[in-house]
Amino acid sequence: MSAIDLVIFDNDGVVVDSEVLANGVLSDLLTEYWQPTSLEQCIRDFMGGTLAGVRRFVKERSGRDLPEDFDDLYHQRLFRAFASDLRPVPGIRAVLDSLHLPFCLASSGTLDRIVLSLTVTGLIDYFAGRIFSAEEVEHGKPAPDLFLHAASNMDVPTSRCVVIEDSPNGVAAARAAGMTVLAYAGLTPVERLGGADATFVTMGALLPLLDTLDKA
Ligand SMILES: [Mg+2]
Repeated sequence: MSAIDLVIFDNDGVVVDSEVLANGVLSDLLTEYWQPTSLEQCIRDFMGGTLAGVRRFVKERSGRDLPEDFDDLYHQRLFRAFASDLRPVPGIRAVLDSLHLPFCLASSGTLDRIVLSLTVTGLIDYFAGRIFSAEEVEHGKPAPDLFLHAASNMDVPTSRCVVIEDSPNGVAAARAAGMTVLAYAGLTPVERLGGADATFVTMGALLPLLDTLDKA
């Protein structure tokens, strides 16, 4: 008997290799509109979160509000970078081609961003009709809302969902949703993904991990 009825993929850093591009755009903008902020700081503090989370962080640290058009500026620059430089995460296409369990995608990004990223990387057909964005829920990761929303729409109990994540925010969200979580340590060190049920460092390791869980 199968123990897994749904695999929920995070998008950024798990499906599309967007984190260096996206955090590069973010660090440039924060440097222009707030204070000098490095790529490494952005990856550490904001990966897996939302722009609302970035706004909150800046407000808490400095009492300042980012400009109203900050999100628009971010998306303009990001979409330009995506169109020219975005690639799939190495090995993800082979995973999606061979995976024999139902799957969907749940991302902190806006729906426009998700669709663009999957389109330019040629991965959109894998997820068409099964894409969930943080825009559809009140609280983004690390709150559980987005994963609960995805499971409910796919009509699967949370206990039979496995989440594939790559950020501490995402791992926390999956745990809060009561789901099993496997963490891909692409950019985040394994020790910061300690809340996950298991971690892996190449996509080639994911299917064997899922197989083991499914037969458990
Ligand atoms: Mg991610």
